Amino acid sequence: MSTLALLGGTPVFDAPLPRDRSMGPDERRAILEVMESDCLSGFYGSAGPEFHGGPKVKAFEEAWRHRYGSRHAVSVNSATSGLFAAMGAIGINPGDEVIVPCWTMSATAMAPLVYGGIPTFVDVEDETFCMDIDAVRAAITPRTRAILTVNLFGHPARLMELRALADKQGLYLVEDNAQGPLAQENERKAGTIGHIGVFSLNYHKHIHTGEGGMCVTDDDRLAERLTLIRNHGENLMWDRPRDDLVNMVGFNYRMTELSAAVGIEQLKRIDARVEGREQFAAALSEGTRGLPGWSVPHARAGCRHNYYVWLVRFDATLVGVSRTTFSKALAAEGFEHATGYVRPLYDLPIFQQRRAFGRDGYPFTLSNRTYQTGMCPVAERLHRQEAVTFEPCAYDTTTPALADRLIEAIHKVYDHREDLKAIDREMPSTA
Ligand SMILES: *Cc1c(COP(=O)(O)O)cnc(C)c1O
Repeated sequence: MSTLALLGGTPVFDAPLPRDRSMGPDERRAILEVMESDCLSGFYGSAGPEFHGGPKVKAFEEAWRHRYGSRHAVSVNSATSGLFAAMGAIGINPGDEVIVPCWTMSATAMAPLVYGGIPTFVDVEDETFCMDIDAVRAAITPRTRAILTVNLFGHPARLMELRALADKQGLYLVEDNAQGPLAQENERKAGTIGHIGVFSLNYHKHIHTGEGGMCVTDDDRLAERLTLIRNHGENLMWDRPRDDLVNMVGFNYRMTELSAAVGIEQLKRIDARVEGREQFAAALSEGTRGLPGWSVPHARAGCRHNYYVWLVRFDATLVGVSRTTFSKALAAEGFEHATGYVRPLYDLPIFQQRRAFGRDGYPFTLSNRTYQTGMCPVAERLHRQEAVTFEPCAYDTTTPALADRLIEAIHKVYDHREDLKAIDREMPSTA
């Protein structure tokens, strides 16, 4: 049995893991075509056909609409912009409460704040890591205006139930589907079940345009409001008087023709890119299932998980080794990974100090919501104690036998648990 790399042995990997390369000859050709046209953005921030962007932006949106079966697709320059626009489109007002999961990327919780909304954090489910619907029910107050759910790690939240709840209560459901392309719940695509679904096309996601995002909706009015917020909508007033342009501040969230041209090519390959990650995650799960204290992820019945993140729940008591020491040993073998994900977002100073803008605490001055560490015990435990995460999208998962060698590294560390227990005994603070 070879020695652990942590203790001076030879690592399983002697070089960094092979990086994903997603740009192929088609993307290169598409970029050159835009360069030759000399139109790098077709947008103009005033009334007219260019209000909705150039030919590549329009073609990309058309292809996305077709692929997702949604009535509208509105491209933006990031999912963050898309989430901000979605909050504006549904008319979040200062003091309105928006229910969000506490365990997500920070942009989810910043979106309501931009419109003076108050994020109300709820805990996540132990199995899917998406928002707990009972906690959502309990969080609804007369001031609640929307539920902003996240299909975290590529697994759908309880979307149909959340939509039914939102409809019954007269709330909007917005999906942060940044991580969820092609995820599904009961044959329905994640991103299309809420009133608005927001996708990310940043460099780290399954398909990307460097930076970028897409909003989908079946609602004509919401789609129009998204386009107004995307592109200085207030300027349309000069063209003809309209009374829907109050409470409507336009931004510049426009996608360039270069990004859209890349997006068109990436979208053609979305099936292969998602399936590649699914198969890779399935191989990792298969090869490590049943190890003590190592719970591999799985999809809820009827759901499709795209494995943006492969999250293992690590039980240090059953493994007999602290997560910190185990993770150090795994990293020394060359297995790049992380422990935890992000701290529950209520721990951010913005919430702890209830100050987002300026000195006096707006918008929290409009609310008596407070934010305490420990509010969401499931997310706290997952983050602080259990989660071991790997991001398949970062790596070239088509490299032969990469999964086999990652599995080998995990087994190697498991086989040397006695050595690691000794390390823990020397440094009890790592437990
Ligand atoms: C990546 C991500 C975002 C932000 O996407 P950008 O396109 O980088 O703005 C928002 N929410 C979640 C859950 C994400 O993973």
